[in-house]
Amino acid sequence: MRGLVWFREDLRTHDNTALYHAAKQCDEGIAALYIIDENMWIAHDTAACKIEFILRGLKLLQSDLDKLNITLYVLSVKSTASIPQEIHKLISIIQADALFFNRQYEINESRRDQSVEKHLSQYDISTYAYHDQIILPPGSVKTLQNTNYSVFTPYKRAWHTVFSQSDIKILPPPRIQDKLNLTNESKVPDTLLKFKSDIDPTLWPAGQLHAKKVLQKFISDKLFHYDKDRDFPSIEGTSKLSPYLCTGMISARYCFLKALESNHNELDTGNKGATTWMGELIWRDFYKHILFNEPRVSMHQAYKTETDNINWNHDETLFSAWKSGQTGYPMIDAAMRQLNTTGWMHNRLRMVVAMFFTKNLFLDWRLGEKYFMSRLIDGDLAANNGGWQWSASTGTDSAPYFRIFNPIRQSERFDPDGEFIIQYCPELKMLTKKNIHDPSRHGEIKMNYPKPIIELNKNRDKVLTAFKTCNIRKL
Ligand SMILES: Cc1cc2nc3c(=O)[nH]c(=O)nc-3n(C[C@H](O)[C@H](O)[C@H](O)COP(=O)(O)OP(=O)(O)OC[C@H]3O[C@@H](n4cnc5c(N)ncnc54)[C@H](O)[C@@H]3O)c2cc1C
Repeated sequence: MRGLVWFREDLRTHDNTALYHAAKQCDEGIAALYIIDENMWIAHDTAACKIEFILRGLKLLQSDLDKLNITLYVLSVKSTASIPQEIHKLISIIQADALFFNRQYEINESRRDQSVEKHLSQYDISTYAYHDQIILPPGSVKTLQNTNYSVFTPYKRAWHTVFSQSDIKILPPPRIQDKLNLTNESKVPDTLLKFKSDIDPTLWPAGQLHAKKVLQKFISDKLFHYDKDRDFPSIEGTSKLSPYLCTGMISARYCFLKALESNHNELDTGNKGATTWMGELIWRDFYKHILFNEPRVSMHQAYKTETDNINWNHDETLFSAWKSGQTGYPMIDAAMRQLNTTGWMHNRLRMVVAMFFTKNLFLDWRLGEKYFMSRLIDGDLAANNGGWQWSASTGTDSAPYFRIFNPIRQSERFDPDGEFIIQYCPELKMLTKKNIHDPSRHGEIKMNYPKPIIELNKNRDKVLTAFKTCNIRKL
C-alpha cells in the first residue's frame, strides 16, 4: 500500500500518530500533503502572526520530511468545498491507496474531513483518521452514567483514572523511507498577501526542534515553581508552549509524559508545580472534549444556552479603547499591548481583560473572542472559546456571574511593583508602586495616559439583573 499523510495542526514528524501509522502500514512508501485554505483561515479570524508562524514551521517540516525521503506537497485551494477533489487528484497522480490524518474537532474542519472521507470512499480509497491532538480521545472520559462532564474537577479525577489504565506512549518518527519517484513543483510560500504579520518573528522561532528545547528548558528551570510563579506576568513562569501546541509542533501527549516523568510518574502527588502544570494540559483536553461534545460552542453560541438571551453591549468606542490598550486601567492596557505587540498574552491577564470586557464594559464576549483570535499566535478555538465563556459566565464550569474581578485589585496582587505595567505602558514609569495601579484616583492624570473609560461599578446592576433574568426571559 502507498499512503498520503495530510498534515494540518500536527506540524512535526516526532510523536505524530497519523504519520507513525502510515509509515508502518504503507509498504510502498508515503508522501505528505499540506493544504493552504486561506478562506477557512479568514472565516476563522486566524491571526496573521499565526499563519506566518505556520509557514515557517511548514518549511522546517518539509526539511525534516526530506531527510526521511518523504515528499511534501503544498496545495493552495480556492475553497474548502474543493478539497475532496483536490486530494483525490493528488492521490491519483502519486498512485496512493490511502489517506492518513489526525482529527480536528472544530465543526467546519470535521465536516470537511467527513466530505473527504465520503468522496474518497466512492473510489475505494481508504482513509485512516486518528485522535492525536489531545491526550485522551474525546468520549473516553465519561461519568458513571455515561454522560459528559461539565465541571472540571471531577473530569480531571476521571481523566486521571482513564489515563492510569491506558498505555499512552511517545511515538518515534518513521524510519528513512525508500525514495519514491515523484515530481513535486509545489513550494511553501514565504508569505501570504492576506496575512501580513506585524509581530517580530524572532520572538517565536518555529519548528519541532525548537518546541522541544522550550519544553526541556521549562521542565529543568521552571516546572517545579510553576504553581507559585504562574500568576505573575512579570515573571517568565509559564512554558509559552501554546503556539507550538496549537500548531502541533509539539504534542500535548509528549509534554504531559515528559512532565510526568520528571515528577517520578506521580500524577496527582509529588511536586505541586508539576501537577499544576499537568492540570493545565488536562484543561486543554477538557475544552477540546467540550468542543467535540457540544458543537454549538463552535458556532458562536453559549454553552449555557439561556445566557444567549443576554442583551450585551456593542459600543464601538469602548471596544476600540479596549483593543488598543487605552482604557485608563493600567493592567488592562499593558495586557492588551502585550497581545498587540507579541501575539501572546499571559493567562492571568487573559482572564482579567476578558472579565473586564464582559462584566465591566458589558460587551458581547463574542467580540472579544474574535479579536483574540485575530491577534493570538496561539489562537485555538476550544481554549479561546472556553476562556471567554469562562470569563463571561456563559460557559461550562465558568466564573460565577456575581464574582467580578476588580482589575485594580488584580493589578496590586499580581503585579505589585508595576514591573509588567511599565514594560508595556512606559508612560507610567514615573508613578510610585502604589499609584501605578490606578493613576486617576491618585490625581496622576496629567501624563499622556487616558482617563478611565468607565467607572468600574457602572454596569454592575445591569450585569447581575441580566444573568438573574436570562432564564426567565427564555420561557
Ligand atoms: C479569555 C482566554 C482566552 C484564551 N485563549 C487561548 C487560546 O486561544 N489558545 C490557547 O492555547 N490558550 C488560550 N487560553 C488559555 C491560556 O491562557 C493559554 O493556554 C496560556 O496562557 C498559554 O501560555 P503557556 O503556554 O505559557 O501556558 P502554560 O501555563 O505553560 O500551560 C501549558 C499549556 O496548557 C494549556 N493551557 C494552559 N491553560 C489553559 C487553559 N486555561 N485552557 C486551555 N488550555 C490551557 C495550553 O496549551 C498551554 O500552552 C485562553 C484563556 C483565556 C482566559
